[in-house]
Amino acid sequence: LSTVSIEGAAEVLRIPATEEHVLRHDRAGEIGLDGGSLTLADGRIAALDSRPHADLHVDASGCAVLPGLVDCHTHLPFCGWRAEEYAQKVAGTSYEEIARSGGGIAASARALAGASDDAVIAQARGLATEMLQHGTTTLECKSGYGLSVDGELRALALAERLDREVPQTVVSTALLAHAVPPGFTADEWMDAVAGMMDAVADRDAWALDIYVESVAFGLEHLERMGALAQDYGLALRAHVEQFSTMRSVPVALAAGARSVDHLACLHPDDVAPLAAADCAAVLLPGAELLGDERVAPARALADAGAICVLATDCNPGTSPVVSLPVVVGLAVRRYGWTVSEALLACTQSAAWVLGLAHDLGALDPGKRADVVLLDSPVSHLPYRFGRNPAALVLVGGEVAWVRPDQAWRLRRR
Ligand SMILES: [Zn+2]
Repeated sequence: LSTVSIEGAAEVLRIPATEEHVLRHDRAGEIGLDGGSLTLADGRIAALDSRPHADLHVDASGCAVLPGLVDCHTHLPFCGWRAEEYAQKVAGTSYEEIARSGGGIAASARALAGASDDAVIAQARGLATEMLQHGTTTLECKSGYGLSVDGELRALALAERLDREVPQTVVSTALLAHAVPPGFTADEWMDAVAGMMDAVADRDAWALDIYVESVAFGLEHLERMGALAQDYGLALRAHVEQFSTMRSVPVALAAGARSVDHLACLHPDDVAPLAAADCAAVLLPGAELLGDERVAPARALADAGAICVLATDCNPGTSPVVSLPVVVGLAVRRYGWTVSEALLACTQSAAWVLGLAHDLGALDPGKRADVVLLDSPVSHLPYRFGRNPAALVLVGGEVAWVRPDQAWRLRRR
């Protein structure tokens, strides 16, 4: 491990330190963006200044320096794509019709079941590489396309293999209730989930997850998943209020959820309790745009002091998006957020969802040296929408990606 001196940046994102390593969004105005330098040593952030005798010097003139981006909601590993469904949706076909004709989650489950481990990992590794090139240094994986006990356990094992094969930190979530598998009622499948929990506990999963929607699982299943998470010492996450208002949030909060994800149809009365809770609001504006969903009340959640988080929701159905810079651009325009609010939501706050905020997600001395250089000030990120500004990505203090036209910034001793 070497010493890296990042010198003369136009902006360095500085999140005010808190004891819990999480900053509620009503305090995002305290985030600093002054220029400066940064030294990395032994895989950690060593100091907020430069070093004359480093192994690697980085000319950061004109750049913004950010903590490595954290994508805390993706559905990797999956197999294949469903582009034809997107064309159908744009033409007005409903998801119910698509699902009835064999599409949707069932189609991805069939593809996963029919593919070798090597083929699934090859696709996931390719996506993780694209994410790295957009600044993502930590990502979450979810099972959920297994749709059987063996299939779910295989998906969890594949997530662990992906973690070994990519430079990023990979956190695994067991999305054991994604769609009701054929041949089961929702209640019967939850019995099967309870029966597989000992085997799930042997894997590396950090959280359990459930999809609560009229076409999937109900509030009673959310309660039951919460009880399982508690019994096995795992965090609880939940996909809620995406297409309809089911008042899932009070149930999720009572069950001790770490995050509630989607929230496009969040009931106005649930904003304040969520904002007051130690539970993150994970917002997925890529899915909202591509699914022509409603827009989550993100401005209200931020003003009320929620722990607000952004993620790609990368999946082959509703959000085939890998770029957190694109998600930041969407959040600024559609949520009326500042760019600092959007960046807080995909750095430290996203790390908090994954239980990693003590170790990464902010440029604090002692934290993991996951760092991204943008080739522009942060204001360009939402403004030059769709462009990838990531110039250099360091993971654990090592150069993991440098854009070819930016290699001139590096000077090795
Ligand atoms: Zn999702």
